[in-house]
Formats: sequence, C-alpha cells, structure tokens
Amino acid sequence: YGDFSQKIDYVFKVVLIGDSAVGKTQLLARFARNQFSVDSKATIGVEFQTKTLIIDNKTVKAQIWDTAGQERYRAVTSAYYRGAVGAMLVYDMTKRQSFDNMAKWLEELRGHADKNIVVMLIGNKCDLGTLKAVPTEDAEEFAQRENLFFMETSALESTNVETAFLTILSEIYRLIS
Ligand code: GDP
Repeated sequence: YGDFSQKIDYVFKVVLIGDSAVGKTQLLARFARNQFSVDSKATIGVEFQTKTLIIDNKTVKAQIWDTAGQERYRAVTSAYYRGAVGAMLVYDMTKRQSFDNMAKWLEELRGHADKNIVVMLIGNKCDLGTLKAVPTEDAEEFAQRENLFFMETSALESTNVETAFLTILSEIYRLIS
C-alpha cells in the first residue's frame, strides 16, 4: 500500500493514417486527453500520445502515433510503422476522395507494417451527417473485403471514439495473449 508506481504489462503501438484534415489529430486528442480544438495544429513531425488502460486485469499502455502533417508530402516514413500492432485508417465521411484513398493507404500500410497488424477503418465527422458523401454500406463493404474492423466516429461530439480505440486495443490484446 502506498506504492503508486504502475506496472505496465503491455505497450501497444497504434498508428493513425489517412489523408490530411480527416481528423486524425482530433481523434487522438479526444481519446488521450478528452479534448477537441477547432483550429488544429500547424506543426510538422511525428508525435505520439499515450493512454494507460486496463484490459482483462492487465495494464496496457496504448501509444498512439499521429503523422502530424507528414502525409501531406506522401512521405510517411517506415519508422512510423515500425513496431505497430494496430492501425487506424481514417477518412472524412464528408469527403469522398479521402475514402477513395483508403485503398492506397492500406497498400502503403501492408507494405510497411507487420502482417498481423490489426486494422480498423474509421469514418470520422459523423456529426456532419447532412454532408455525408460516403454511404455506410460502401465503407462496410470495403472493410469486409479487406478484413478490417469498421466504425463511424465524431471527434467533435465524442461519438464512438472511445469504443473504436477500445475495440482495436482489445483485439490486439486478444491476439497476443
Ligand atoms: P488531421 O490532419 O487528419 O490530423 O485532421 P485534424 O484533426 O487536424 O482535423 C482537421 C479539421 O477537421 C479540423 O478543423 C478539425 O477541427 C476538424 N475535425 C476533426 N474531427 C472532426 C469531427 O469529428 N467533426 C467535425 N465536424 N470536424 C472535425
């Protein structure tokens, strides 16, 4: 009693990928700090944030990486993918092109990451429902064909963000334990 040092059983690296401005940074801010900021970062460089949670009585430290703008130059480095056990492929459901680019991102991911990586497709900005440009069925079909988990989220309204991260982390845990 009185020893508050935390024993970490697992560290899971999860990378966020997808076009610029789909909401990767805000999804991470929402999950790690329960924050959202309307005018996002302008900084370039790889960054990650951590959040420690309990899964099945084990202490799991999730280390979530954000491209922080690298993707604008189509130059996400292989260091970014190194050691990743999970990936979130994020598109903006109001931008069809960001969904159409998911195949390219998936190809890039499969070219760099471990073959057992757990991948989740995320349709973000579901709070902008009236502007929806990607039908849920299209995303479901793609996810099914490519063997991905799938969820629609809103970093702004906090919809499904926690659930999405918990789902991917639990699946990673299930595979390695
Ligand atoms: P990134 O480039 O993929 O990291 O995207 P950002 O997280 O920087 O977000 C890009 C823009 O979309 C910013 O203006 C955010 O405020 C906005 N945004 C991010 N997530 C959401 C969301 O869930 N709903 C809405 N309406 N806007 C969002």
